[in-house]
Amino acid sequence: MNDVVAAGARYRAIGLRQMESLPRWGQLAPELRQGVEVVSQVLPFRTNAYVLDLIDWDDLPDDPIFQLTFPQAGMLERDAFRRIADLRAAGASPAEVRAAADAIRLRLNPHPAGQLTHNVPELDGRELAGLQHKYRETVLYFPAQGQTCHAYCTYCFRWAQFVGMPDLKFEARESADLVAYLGRHPEVSDLLVTGGDPMIMTTAALEKHLGPVLADELEHVQSIRIGTKSLAYWPARFVADKDADDLLRFFERAIAAGRHVALMAHFSHPRELDSDLVREAIRRIRATGVEIRMQAPLVRRVNDSAAVWSKMWRTGVRLGLIPYYMFVERDTGPKNYFEVPLARAYQIYREATQQVSGLARTVRGPSMSATPGKVRVLGVQSVGGEKVFLLDFLQARNPLWVGRPFFARFDPRATWFDQLEPAFGEDHFFFDGVRERSPREREALRLQLAG
Ligand SMILES: *Cc1c(COP(=O)(O)O)cnc(C)c1O
Ligand code: SF4
Repeated sequence: MNDVVAAGARYRAIGLRQMESLPRWGQLAPELRQGVEVVSQVLPFRTNAYVLDLIDWDDLPDDPIFQLTFPQAGMLERDAFRRIADLRAAGASPAEVRAAADAIRLRLNPHPAGQLTHNVPELDGRELAGLQHKYRETVLYFPAQGQTCHAYCTYCFRWAQFVGMPDLKFEARESADLVAYLGRHPEVSDLLVTGGDPMIMTTAALEKHLGPVLADELEHVQSIRIGTKSLAYWPARFVADKDADDLLRFFERAIAAGRHVALMAHFSHPRELDSDLVREAIRRIRATGVEIRMQAPLVRRVNDSAAVWSKMWRTGVRLGLIPYYMFVERDTGPKNYFEVPLARAYQIYREATQQVSGLARTVRGPSMSATPGKVRVLGVQSVGGEKVFLLDFLQARNPLWVGRPFFARFDPRATWFDQLEPAFGEDHFFFDGVRERSPREREALRLQLAG
């Protein structure tokens, strides 16, 4: 049992300063500590007592939860690391360190695949910054107050908006825009609330955002999904927080309004399903009629093994969770540290699904959220003497692309869709106009891969 829970502790964020005051910190190897101290100037971390208790402190630095939540020396290029370390050693001012860190951050592709500029819907000619409408039936909503998390994942592509660079932030103005937009779009059946983590909000705030969506006039919005890491990082949100019971009552109200409500729970490792507290949270949520689906990116050093995924799905299914997506880690942040080649990702997915029964084979992956859509790796095959990836779209800008398998040349080192080339010398529709890098960058990448 996680001690924090036994104590019924209130949520408190732990950053570098608080960490340095914990006795446990002083016992870590100096180079580990230095790695965290330097890299966190660029990629800040945030954790809490519950997450610290999930870590096996005798297994550092390899412990998956440690890797998931603490920045590591290898996440920055050597010159970037040196630059920050030297500035700190020379007693540079916080402003100098911050300026250097900002410059490094901008090189880390903080908003891949047109996150900020594509798919922003309009209402009467005004752009609605807190909404995204990429696939016909689904609208994404980013409530402003939900733009942070109980802890940060070190690979997170949303880190830019957590770091206090104001012009990189998403802001949802208000739920009025959401309601007005949904009212004019009867084709939208799904609302997906995301962040950060919407469950960082109080129940009162969450109700203000989502309560109006339950109105009869918005009956066409059948499903409300809430993306959250809170079950893994702060399950007390559903058990012991002071408005936990109110939250469950709100879930019941949404179900009573005839909607399908699902928590899209981000679980990266089976250990996150192990505590008494998370199990109690799951039990309480399910008792309201809300479903819990589980999804996560495949991340090197955290969950890059079939055994880890199959155990996570098996445990999840036993607890009543539904496996949903296995994502490919996207091209942002310290991606070199975390990325897994597509060929390897497919192998892990395949071996993991082989180890579970049909109830856990509801998971789809490995899937890339790329500019043209969600692309899944369906297989690796030899066709007519050419080795190829078999791919399909799980979601696409153009709904007609969904479910039509297509081929790309096999490349054992490719880690993302934009590194793939059509197979059989053809130029297929789905590769057209979807490049996420300039031709020069692609050429550089090709040379790098060839070398
Ligand atoms: C994944 C995703 C969705 C939801 O797709 P489903 O197939 O319904 O899970 C919606 N919008 C965006 C931008 C997505 O990436
Ligand atoms: S929970 Fe999600 S949004 Fe929050 S830090 Fe992790 S990956 Fe990012």
